[in-house]
Amino acid sequence: MRRRINLSAATLLLPVILLAAGLVVHQWQAYAAAEAATRAFEQFRATLQAMEKVSAERGPTNGALGADAKAAVAARSRMMSARAESDRRIANLLAQLDPHECNDCAAARESVETARARLASARKEVDAVVDLPKERRDQLAISNAVRQMIDVIPWFGSSVISSASAVVRGDPDSVNCLGIARLSADLREQAGQLGSGFTTALSVNRPLTSAELLALERTRGRIDALRELIGARVGNHPALITHAFENMNTQYFGTGTAYLSGIQEAAMRPGGAGVSPAELAASYVPTMAAITDYRDEVLSLAESDVLDHRDKARLLLGVAVLAAMLLTGALLAASSVFRRRFVQPFVEATTVIKEIAEGKFTTPVPQASNRDEILGLFSAIAVLKANSIAKLSLERERDVLIRDLEIMADTDSLTRMLNRRAFLRKAHIALREARIDGATPALIMFDIDHFKEINDTYGHAAGDHALQVLAKACRELCRPADIFARIGGEEFALFTYVNDVCSAVEIANRLRRRIAGTAVNADGLDITMTASFGVAVPSDPSNRTTVDELLKRADRFLYRAKRAGRNRVESELDALAD
Ligand code: GH3
Ligand code: MG
Ligand code: MG
Repeated sequence: MRRRINLSAATLLLPVILLAAGLVVHQWQAYAAAEAATRAFEQFRATLQAMEKVSAERGPTNGALGADAKAAVAARSRMMSARAESDRRIANLLAQLDPHECNDCAAARESVETARARLASARKEVDAVVDLPKERRDQLAISNAVRQMIDVIPWFGSSVISSASAVVRGDPDSVNCLGIARLSADLREQAGQLGSGFTTALSVNRPLTSAELLALERTRGRIDALRELIGARVGNHPALITHAFENMNTQYFGTGTAYLSGIQEAAMRPGGAGVSPAELAASYVPTMAAITDYRDEVLSLAESDVLDHRDKARLLLGVAVLAAMLLTGALLAASSVFRRRFVQPFVEATTVIKEIAEGKFTTPVPQASNRDEILGLFSAIAVLKANSIAKLSLERERDVLIRDLEIMADTDSLTRMLNRRAFLRKAHIALREARIDGATPALIMFDIDHFKEINDTYGHAAGDHALQVLAKACRELCRPADIFARIGGEEFALFTYVNDVCSAVEIANRLRRRIAGTAVNADGLDITMTASFGVAVPSDPSNRTTVDELLKRADRFLYRAKRAGRNRVESELDALAD
């Protein structure tokens, strides 16, 4: 029973433990993804910042490309510090994409490495132009250098996409903020390109070509599209319409774009706008700061969202682990209590009841627990055990009594010898048993002579005493297998096996002599007695005789002994006397 209960408990526990383990594993995966999202977010931000700085580097670069000998030193110094800032951001990004920090960033890292290499070659191109005096600078070389600077940016795309998707995998709610941040970064890039579109014309003081105008229009188109996309995303989330958002609208889309429209109009004139690229950068670039400010605000919103999500996932994981442990613990405790309080008592009860049924009373009845049912069960078993013990002892007493009664029924109360009834039964059984030694059965019967006179002379009690003494004396002469009994008042019979009738007569004579030689004390006087004997053996040895027949024959010979003068043995042989 215990095994079956254990099996049932295990069958019940297993699905619960599996379910609890599944819950913990699920929460662990969610937490791991949320934790990975926080790291990916840092990569995302570092990528946008690196992109921004590379874009921003184009402002001072354009300034240097268009600077004359007078402004060259200052322009170059601004360009160099912008380059240093870009390099710092790229190095920071590459550190985050390091294989030790990020397992699946190899493609993004390779792409950023390419961006760095391309940036280096673009800078060489720029330097080659800037090193020439302004009047010797080739327009094509300038636009080529500007183009190469712009072409660096798409190489950050892979890092943007892979980090953004890792963040969204861990925290799907962050998708909107990441999207806006990405669009803002693109907007900043396009805004930068819009400014760069004037560089060549302003550098050599000529009007914008129609190709340049077309490129500017294309960039404006992209800027408008990005503004709409950002507007659509922000529109769904009023929390994102912040002061920085309004500032971007007024600063960049107001002041910045108006300034460029003015420059564009001026640049249509034959002598050019009369503004150097550095002057344009000085007025235009600060208006783009509003874009990055908004981008940074959205990023910090996304960051707190991602961190919140990670903290929640950690809390949920803790709760899941605790719940799983509590559930499993509670189930284990419940099954143990069930076993201890119900199964164990029944097993113990079974053992005790089995032992009671087998008549063993060694195992004590277990102490009952405080449960009413078990208490009742054990009390009942205790009563059952007490009853069984009492019953067994009564049965033993009864058996002893029956045995005593049987003995009493077979025993003569005066002489403690077998009585007539027992004699007949035992002699009958003895006669039926086949003898292999060829011995013959013999029945010796004797009667005390003139016993009445003893009673009359010494009293009945003295007669009783005489009977007891004689019986004892005769019994001493008998063999263990002999059946010796008092079959009447002063009549006795001995059933035995002998070789022949002579041996039987010999035994009878031995008894007769013992009786005659035994003195019985009565009232200080010695009484002596004699007895007359009849000895019978089967008349026809080939035929089976009966006890009755032997008794009759012995009685006849006894009668003959009485008549012949008493104190004699008579048998089918001639009577012998001393
Ligand atoms: P006989 O030699 O012919 O046998 O003479 P008897 O006196 O022995 O014969 P009888 O049969 O006339 O008498 C038997 C007596 O034995 C009668 C009875 O009082 C006595 N008797 C029988 N049973 C007991 C007994 O248990 N106790 C005593 N004290 N006497 C008994
Ligand atoms: Mg008699
Ligand atoms: Mg007699």
